[in-house]
Amino acid sequence: TVLRSVFRTRVPLKVGRLCYSSSVPTTKLFINGKFVESKTAEWLDIQNPATNEVIARVPKATQEEMLAAVDSCSRAFHSWSETSILARQQVFLRYQQLIKDNIKELAKVITLEQGKTLADAEGDVFRGLQVVEHACSITSLMLGETLPSITKDMDTYTYRLPLGVCAGITPFNFPAMIPLWMFPMGMVCGNTYLLKPSERVPTCAMLLAKMLQDAGAPDGTLNIIHGQHDAVNFICDHPAIKAISFVGSNQAGEYIYERGSKNGKRVQSNMGAKNHGVVMPDANKENTLNQLVGAAFGAAGQRCMALSTAILVGEAQSWLPELIERAKALRVNAGDQPGADVGPLITPQAKQRVCSLIQSGVDEGAKLLLDGRNVKVKGYENGNFVGPTIISNVTPEMKCYTEEIFGPVLVVLEADSLDDAISLVNRNPYGNGTAIFTTNGATARKYTHEVDVGQVGVNVPIPVPLPMFSFTGSRGSFRGDMNFYGKQGVQFYTQIKTVTSQWKAEDATLKSPAVTMPT
Ligand code: NAD
Repeated sequence: TVLRSVFRTRVPLKVGRLCYSSSVPTTKLFINGKFVESKTAEWLDIQNPATNEVIARVPKATQEEMLAAVDSCSRAFHSWSETSILARQQVFLRYQQLIKDNIKELAKVITLEQGKTLADAEGDVFRGLQVVEHACSITSLMLGETLPSITKDMDTYTYRLPLGVCAGITPFNFPAMIPLWMFPMGMVCGNTYLLKPSERVPTCAMLLAKMLQDAGAPDGTLNIIHGQHDAVNFICDHPAIKAISFVGSNQAGEYIYERGSKNGKRVQSNMGAKNHGVVMPDANKENTLNQLVGAAFGAAGQRCMALSTAILVGEAQSWLPELIERAKALRVNAGDQPGADVGPLITPQAKQRVCSLIQSGVDEGAKLLLDGRNVKVKGYENGNFVGPTIISNVTPEMKCYTEEIFGPVLVVLEADSLDDAISLVNRNPYGNGTAIFTTNGATARKYTHEVDVGQVGVNVPIPVPLPMFSFTGSRGSFRGDMNFYGKQGVQFYTQIKTVTSQWKAEDATLKSPAVTMPT
């Protein structure tokens, strides 16, 4: 297939020979500017989700290697933080061009390891690229504040300064976008960065590291380690690491937030979701059904902003048969195959989990209107495919509603009124994203004001903010004070130093000590 040839041919490409050296290729660590083979005895397989072939192995880095990586970050911090902001900006201006030039190569690697379609993989890179472009405006974003003459001869001003070594821990579902939410913002602020990519999709991060090096980032400014729990614990505990950015499941995110915070670090933790799409009967039917189907089943539902729950209000309940027809028309196939709409799930275990959550809905009395569990994909019989699935008559106590399914499954609930729909959404513990579909401005306004969710779309199914804003998931979907990217991203990766200075004319020199507080 195209992807298998990519796997062989990508080696001599511009981005260089970086991760593969034997017949079952191994993923390197990136330490102090070098791609190095791990000395570990523990390796994890990386499987192509469309075939389950083992395509590479990723090491669980040893303690020694992790220490070497963080030491390299610490050493590089001294010079990188003193490098002029214009020079740091130039690195990221070159970086954004390199990413643009290599978008298709990055997408192929993403499809190979993650499974999503090539077009969707390009979108994954593109949304990360936008954060790199945003990072290039750091000269404005990092401005401090000044207030002259706060008293006689005295001025106060603030600097935004980097923290030191920062670390990122990323999930499998966006191999490019999520690492790019992290290290470009962290580094452009003057921090150095330790990244631990998802062990299931590490290669894209390695390519991104190579491009960053080619863009001129000095050795040690970005280091990459691989692994699972030990690597995560190492990051949470190492005293040189001042801040942790995490994106992934609640189980890992809550743990990392707690352990990292206890150790005195800043932590921002973006976690799971259950995003509701509220469909009002006055909505534009054609648009709404298409948007709903795209947002529920795109990327096989493996997006934290997937619209995985529909609430049909009143008359809109009669739109279900058409919704099913549209979902049925999607083509399930390997991500590199022309016309593929829905690719495989990441692992056989993920498929099993999704199938059992579908079954739980049936067992608890919901109606399975479209069942994708037995989908067959010709030529890819061993892949982790689940076809679009729609479950209706779902109630809030059912497991298929309370758990994040993270598969191509849309659960459908019904509501009599907008108020009922809002109350349902607000009772759900997650607060990542939601959308309302309506042609009535007052309805849209009421929804956006009353719904307790951090990112709201009005006739926009996946309202992920562009990077001049921030990614503002809330409640059970987020732990921390400062969100990813945008102004908040800069706040997260910087601390403020406030300078108060007095320059008196010589004749105003104090004649005796001032022992009382100034009033
Ligand atoms: P995951 O939590 O399994 O893995 C994320 C990272 O944490 C990986 O690097 C992994 O090695 C590490 N990890 C996994 N389990 C751990 C544990 N028990 N202790 C410590 N570290 C652990 O997540 P995933 O399956 O890769 O990604 C899917 C999840 O990520 C979904 O829940 C999805 O909603 C969420 N997600 C959220 C956002 C967001 O912005 N809110 C974006 C993308 C994905």
